[in-house]
Amino acid sequence: MFNSLSDRLTSTFKNLRTRGRLSEADIDATVREIRRALLDADVAVPVVREFTAAVRERALSSEVSGALNPAQQVVKIVNEELVDILGGATRPLTLAKTPPTVIMLAGLQGAGKTTLAGKLAHALKGQGHTPLLVAADLQRPNAVTQLSVVAERAGVPVFAPHPGNTSEADDPAADAPLIGDPVGVARDGVAYAKERQHDVVIVDTAGRLGIDQVLMQQAADIRAAVNPDEVLFVIDAMIGQDAVNTAKAFADGVDFTGVVLSKLDGDARGGAALSVAKVTGRPIMFASTGEKLTDFEVFHPDRMASRILD
Ligand code: GDP
Repeated sequence: MFNSLSDRLTSTFKNLRTRGRLSEADIDATVREIRRALLDADVAVPVVREFTAAVRERALSSEVSGALNPAQQVVKIVNEELVDILGGATRPLTLAKTPPTVIMLAGLQGAGKTTLAGKLAHALKGQGHTPLLVAADLQRPNAVTQLSVVAERAGVPVFAPHPGNTSEADDPAADAPLIGDPVGVARDGVAYAKERQHDVVIVDTAGRLGIDQVLMQQAADIRAAVNPDEVLFVIDAMIGQDAVNTAKAFADGVDFTGVVLSKLDGDARGGAALSVAKVTGRPIMFASTGEKLTDFEVFHPDRMASRILD
């Protein structure tokens, strides 16, 4: 991810390095190259516009710092603006004052929600939490089984409606509503977690291939029923230009609190990653970088910006 963008920006800055002083024309030429590099990386047009305007203005006002030459100064400005569009500071997970912390996952089918549920549960378990996964994705016949497999791999229990209840088969969880009522499953899953003193509940929800009002209403109903501390919108970083519309639709539909970028290990151009925080005003909180349980990290805007400009 970002390889091509990273190369383009680096070579732009390399050209600047030989200059002693930067004229307005030099800065304009540089900003034009940055604009082209971002657009070619599929970054959303309004984000590119705002980004390049900010870089240009700051470069022209020549924020003088004795220690940096003009080229380094431009790199510093671009770095800071990248951190800004990526959401600024690292945003940690909100934990409920009174457990359980309820985390709901939302996103399109195939975005990586179920995979993320396992990774998040695994990471939280490693920190001493006692997560429970709740299978409220009843859309795909296989989803409940898939979550049960993921839960088993992560070594955490799953609350699922019949017949996918594998890890706690002889439990009261077997009283969960039958397939067909995802809102009921989500609500009962949270109640079950309280009863069993799980301190974190991760609710996996259904996604479809495209934006769909019925799906969005279902996610909104689940949100209303379980009153989550976090609603994480999982987005496939490979989906390119569609990312912005998808993210906006989910921001309106379920009012998510944070973004998880999945498939950051892919070779897509990275525009989705660079657009989503800015266009939705919600922070990117985690990155998913592969299919293994441990391919998961807290998202740090500053580290990502440095990686792009490396
Ligand atoms: P869901 O429909 O949103 O629950 O998506 P899944 O979790 O089932 O993921 C869809 C596909 O993407 C599966 O084949 C996953 O193994 C794969 N996947 C999920 N996250 C990642 C990731 O970070 N990197 C890669 N390479 N594949 C991923």
